[in-house]
Amino acid sequence: MHAKIEAATNLIAPYGGRLIDLLAPEEELAEAKAYASTLPSIQISPRSVCDLEMLAVGSFSPVDRFMGEADYRSVLHDMRLSDGTVFPMPITLPVRPEDGLELGQDIALRDSMNDLLAIMTVEELYPWDHAEASEKVFATQDAKHPLVAEMARWGGLNASGPLRVLQLPRHYDFVELRRTPAEVRAVLETYGHRNVVAFQTRNPMHRVHEELTKRAIAKVDGVLLLHPSVGMTKPGDVDHYTRVRVYKALSQKYYEPDRIVLSLLPLAMRMGGPREALWHAIIRRNYGANHFIVGRDHAGPGSDSTGKPFYGPYDAQGLVSKYQVETGVTMEPFEQLVYLPDEDRYEEVSKIPADVKTMNISGTQVREEYLAKGRLLPSWFSRPETAEILGEAYPARHKQGVCLWFTGLSGAGKSTTALVLQQLLLEAGREATQLDGDIVRTHLSKGLGFSREDRDANILRIGFVAGEITRHGGTVVCAAVSPYRATRDAVRAMVDDDQFVEIFVDTPLSVCEERDVKGMYAKARRGEIKEFTGISDPYEPPLNPELTLDTENRTPVENARAIVDWLRERGFVRQEAPVSANGHKA
Ligand code: ADP
Ligand code: ADP
Repeated sequence: MHAKIEAATNLIAPYGGRLIDLLAPEEELAEAKAYASTLPSIQISPRSVCDLEMLAVGSFSPVDRFMGEADYRSVLHDMRLSDGTVFPMPITLPVRPEDGLELGQDIALRDSMNDLLAIMTVEELYPWDHAEASEKVFATQDAKHPLVAEMARWGGLNASGPLRVLQLPRHYDFVELRRTPAEVRAVLETYGHRNVVAFQTRNPMHRVHEELTKRAIAKVDGVLLLHPSVGMTKPGDVDHYTRVRVYKALSQKYYEPDRIVLSLLPLAMRMGGPREALWHAIIRRNYGANHFIVGRDHAGPGSDSTGKPFYGPYDAQGLVSKYQVETGVTMEPFEQLVYLPDEDRYEEVSKIPADVKTMNISGTQVREEYLAKGRLLPSWFSRPETAEILGEAYPARHKQGVCLWFTGLSGAGKSTTALVLQQLLLEAGREATQLDGDIVRTHLSKGLGFSREDRDANILRIGFVAGEITRHGGTVVCAAVSPYRATRDAVRAMVDDDQFVEIFVDTPLSVCEERDVKGMYAKARRGEIKEFTGISDPYEPPLNPELTLDTENRTPVENARAIVDWLRERGFVRQEAPVSANGHKA
């Protein structure tokens, strides 16, 4: 039998996971579900779903419910529960007066798909104040802070009361890596090391993180609990599917097998800097860790609206170390590490003499200089597995989808230009799907007419298909009158602003009418066609189109070339391979 780990044997009350189990026992489940179906229910937010899961399995131990007013106020002001236990983050269930909750009542908590999760007995309903919560927890009221902004949309009352959890939120991804505190502690116990050092992350891991975690393993002579947050992180972060592929590859290949446990944490982060770091340490205590790595700017939300960082880079270390004795978690501080190319190793910045050459790649550079351009990250910065996974997840611009959306009057030249464009795109290495208004109306939108509703339905159908094509890396050229601005904007939102190119074919009505390719303007003037765009129905020109075409002074070929040039400048079309003077590719 292995030596028992300190973390599991020497639980320091009140943490260490009281093995709270709010899950209703199997025998009672059917009855409880039947009962729940008779109750009034509320749908809780994705964040509250994460919090509920953490509460249910004991990750927030000793907290076993969404906080009541006494705990809430005490946490806000003193970073302690009302019984004195250190706990820096309020865990609340915000509801609205119009939800109609009543004291003493049982309610069913459901997720956004209406799946039943838990029964809560409403013991308390109390108002909370946005400004106060922002100031106390996040030390700011600046709406650039993601939680300050999000909290402004929460209901004004907090509901609290005992929970009976009937169903944990379901996860179908990486199930083998999703473990409760009790399960993680059981695994750690089989490893036979006294100490466990936890590492929290919301980013892909590069060489620098590998170095830092290995130093921590050596320092405590223990096991690394690689414990990434996969609930909610900072908006814009690399998605967790991609990150977990990276963690799996690294943990399997670059660490001693008996020195690492990879487990996923369904935590919804708050980006609360120092308070969040202390909270992270307590959570990891519940999973059996007795050491916790805190680096530079832990759980930092970036800069405020004046460009100043919300928290000092080492504030989080200060707070976590201050409470080490009470939490039972030793803080393992790390300064920023940088790469020394001449020695091929990483070192803490303060230990490097001024004249020694160092290298670093910032997060922005990773995205813009490497991934967007389809360049693999260099091997001193990332393991090849990481570089490859990130390269696949973030393809270069020319492999990303794009939607070219022509809008303009009937006869303006949308279809004519789109056909030329298709050939030029093929020449440049991009195959495009054409969704031409007239053609779409013969199948996808068959039966729709030209009333406002029917036109909107037609455009939104084209937009839906265009969004799917774009999302899967394809090129789509749409040519429809699309006369209404709001509908075009709705399509832009469906496709994704970055990948939507609105091309206004700005041909005056008089010219279109003179061309009158299909004789429709004449009919419209005679009143034989009702609601004809430009004659008897409005055309709302785009306010900020990416491109505007002039078909009176430019030929279709000139216009199509201008579009390809525009795409090439932005990386959507590959640069032409350089050609040497004798005509051979260089
Ligand atoms: P839409 O698709 O906008 O309804 P079409 O492309 O079907 O318009 O029709 C435009 C008509 O105008 C075609 O007959 C085309 O030959 C003519 N035309 C004349 N000059 C141009 C130009 N510079 N660009 C596009 N079309 C032009
Ligand atoms: P929309 O954005 O209006 O759905 P489409 O490109 O799908 O535009 O269809 C417009 C085409 O259908 C025009 O090019 C024209 O040839 C024809 N059409 C028939 N009736 C009308 C109408 N009342 N208004 C505009 N176009 C019409």
